[in-house]
Amino acid sequence: MRKILVLHTGGTISMSANEQGDVVPNAVNPLVAAGLDLPADIELQTEEIFNLPSPHVTPERMLELSTRIREAQEHEGITGVVVTHGTDTLEETAYFLDLTLDPEIPVVVTGAMRSSNEIGSDGLYNFQSAIKVAASHGARGKGCLVVMNDEIHTARFVTKTHTTNVATFRTPTFGPVGLVTKDGATFFQELINQDVEPITSCAANVFLIKAYAGMDGMLFDALPESANGLVIEALGAGNMPPATLPALQRLIDRGVPIVLVSRCFNGVAQAVYDYAGGGVELEHMGVIFCRGLNGQKARIKLIVGLSAGKSGHELKHYVNNAIS
Ligand code: ASP
Repeated sequence: MRKILVLHTGGTISMSANEQGDVVPNAVNPLVAAGLDLPADIELQTEEIFNLPSPHVTPERMLELSTRIREAQEHEGITGVVVTHGTDTLEETAYFLDLTLDPEIPVVVTGAMRSSNEIGSDGLYNFQSAIKVAASHGARGKGCLVVMNDEIHTARFVTKTHTTNVATFRTPTFGPVGLVTKDGATFFQELINQDVEPITSCAANVFLIKAYAGMDGMLFDALPESANGLVIEALGAGNMPPATLPALQRLIDRGVPIVLVSRCFNGVAQAVYDYAGGGVELEHMGVIFCRGLNGQKARIKLIVGLSAGKSGHELKHYVNNAIS
């Protein structure tokens, strides 16, 4: 028997459209009573751990989810986990789970773009696909995966790319790692593993700011004394307008770790340019370059790293996401 723990957390996949066409949460998740077409040897253990639109999900909720999954992995004989989640912050929760859970037992996160009673609703189909992937042998050891619209993506690199399209989840630069077909899950890429940090609390006040042409230091100077970390979505290969530099230096002098990713949709941030505000100068100042993650993922990684007690060189090594 393959035993899959299903944790529902809310989101459009559990919502319905009302008479006005507005999408609203339900008291009872329609997925719980849904009929699924699954192999007879798959047994589901279903829990509604919370029922939240995903903009209401916080790192503390992600930790609650991770803790519940770890407990089930260690003590309840499960062979896989499926998490249903709103799509707006799905990638952040999935990456949090990826960073904090043993990769051996598959954890698959899914959601829907159309609610349960809308024409062309994708929820039940995605849910069934996610169960098939979580029950598959190929998913073992791959960490947290995101399954939507017949594609299997890594939690590390997937992102929501469209406000409404069912093909919204994409992995820029690297692509999906597998497909869900009539025969089940098919993988066509091996994954590089990473360290797991089984944290028990979440660092607060880790901020994310996007750079823009003509930016100065005002926003950075406005960060509170309690700031524990900052992620910047910088320009191009990893550069900042020069007027931001004095404020960035003040944050570094205060001991606030600054992590830099690119605001570009594809590619990795690197210290390439040697001019005022260029990546070379930023790296000399002590800004940590994070390779390949988007801003919201880098923030999750910084939170997990700080919560695991990392600082200085150890934090830099953990966050820069270099695999070599
Ligand atoms: N706003 C919804 C949510 O994230 C979107 C969705 O689930 O697709 O909860």
